[in-house]
Amino acid sequence: MSAIDTLPPLRDVIAQHGLSARKALGQNFLLDLNLTSKIARAAGDLTGSDVLEIGPGPGGLTRGLLAEGARHVLAIEKDARCLPALDEIAQAYPGRLTVLNADALQVDPLAHLTPPIKVVANLPYNVGTELLIRWLTPADWPPVWDSLTLMFQREVAERIVAQPGSKAYGRLALLAQWRCEARIVMHLPPSAFTPPPKVSSAVVHITALPEPRYPADPVLLERLVAKAFNQRRKMLRAALKGLAPDLEDRLLAAGIQPTDRAETVGLEQFCALARSLKS
Ligand code: SAM
Repeated sequence: MSAIDTLPPLRDVIAQHGLSARKALGQNFLLDLNLTSKIARAAGDLTGSDVLEIGPGPGGLTRGLLAEGARHVLAIEKDARCLPALDEIAQAYPGRLTVLNADALQVDPLAHLTPPIKVVANLPYNVGTELLIRWLTPADWPPVWDSLTLMFQREVAERIVAQPGSKAYGRLALLAQWRCEARIVMHLPPSAFTPPPKVSSAVVHITALPEPRYPADPVLLERLVAKAFNQRRKMLRAALKGLAPDLEDRLLAAGIQPTDRAETVGLEQFCALARSLKS
């Protein structure tokens, strides 16, 4: 019998510890351990890796990660009510689970882990995008993590993997795809969660590339993309007005028509424009 089987079913854990879901904390729990193990497997081979999990809640995904062989899991949970349930898991897997009762936005947990590091989380929806942007924009590249396997609202997942010309394409797609490979590996209906959220969800698997796909200064590229998509329906010669006196020439040199809109411009062209604006 594996260690996962010695722990009580998650419904019992929730009842025993009075873990009624709180909306303000984005609490939609996964209670099916087959599903949480499947999500853990979507992160690849966990043996020999440290795993960062944000928002373990009652610990369904945590149990999946440990059962799938993670060397060590560091789980950051804001809701102190979940700690006794997580402690039971820590006891079933001695020395392999550390739980930190903290707000994930206020700590830098990656610094406590030993590479190779994988981040795997069913993220609280209210902080998911902000955490993703932090992980995608570290001070140095490559980042300390090898991969991010993250549950998002389906609409956010689609924005991460979107291609030019689609409605979902924008800052998040460019940020994720510039230095990473990003794909949706699983779709989940609201009924997979307790309580069910209003929208569908999807798991995105993101792996860090050793180098950016195209050279560009990260700060400049980020600023340029933010400005371009701030007024996504405007032509770029208007949306980017004020960035350079000879903006139209620089757009053309980067292979962009001044009348193009941000949503049709690819990553390679944005990087070329960022390089041109730096010179
Ligand atoms: N991982 C569990 C699962 O799959 O069943 C729970 C996922 S639930 C969508 C999100 C979890 O994140 C909740 O347990 C919630 O308390 C926690 N959470 C919300 N905001 C947080 C924050 N800022 N820092 C850390 N945890 C947070």
